[in-house]
Amino acid sequence: MPRKLKSSRKPVAVRRASRPLSRERAASASGRGQDARATAGETPALRPKAKPKSEYTSPERLHKIFAALDQLFPHAQCALRHENAFQLLVATILSAQCTDERVNKVTPELFKRFPTPQDFAAVSPAVLENEIRSTGFYHNKAKSIIGASKKIATDFGGQVPRTMEEMLTLPGVARKTANVVLGTAYGIPTGIVVDTHVFRIAHRLKLSAAGTPEKVEQDLIPLVPRERWISFGHQVIWFGRKICQARKPRCADCPLETTCDAPDKTV
Ligand code: SF4
Repeated sequence: MPRKLKSSRKPVAVRRASRPLSRERAASASGRGQDARATAGETPALRPKAKPKSEYTSPERLHKIFAALDQLFPHAQCALRHENAFQLLVATILSAQCTDERVNKVTPELFKRFPTPQDFAAVSPAVLENEIRSTGFYHNKAKSIIGASKKIATDFGGQVPRTMEEMLTLPGVARKTANVVLGTAYGIPTGIVVDTHVFRIAHRLKLSAAGTPEKVEQDLIPLVPRERWISFGHQVIWFGRKICQARKPRCADCPLETTCDAPDKTV
């Protein structure tokens, strides 16, 4: 029987994860060691350096962004199916944390059963919750829809109001929903819709670093000409759905790739 050879290899020491980093390794991990590596002939990490904010919001760059959006989505529209401002209001409330496709499956039957704000105002929460259950968060959504319908029926003569100030008095309505309804249903540019797509893309394109949709909107308003406020919201939402997607942006297909310094670019 052959004798088992004794291995000359020393066992590999298991490195303890909790061991503190040396100063050099810590500098390397944080990126501060790049200059030293470059001096030693190594290739530094290709991380784009942040430019001054004014470069990201220069008229030339903004023009490039608008031109790309116009070329990609010249006829961008709201994807929520509706026939009037009230239906769009209800559909927009339902679209929170839900896809437009799902909302569009629910609303045809819903609007057939409850055609007016007065009909929604009279329905019991339990009945409405059952109708909208598949859109998620149905308890809060039913409360908002019934509350907004009651207010529209009693204070606004059954018509969705036409000003931001009045829209914000409706239960469950914040600036995003108000901008969607005023812009899309009435063609009134009161601001820029900032949903999850617009919020993400404003950050990736470094048009805003703000932490809330309301603050991002205030950053975008001076950058986007007023006549573009409505279409810009629609275009960026479609851009977010089709190209600059949340998890894996399609940067290789993006016409803004050369001007984009997003840290999560995929090219
Ligand atoms: S390059 Fe990528 S991250 Fe930047 S805007 Fe285009 S798709 Fe989004």
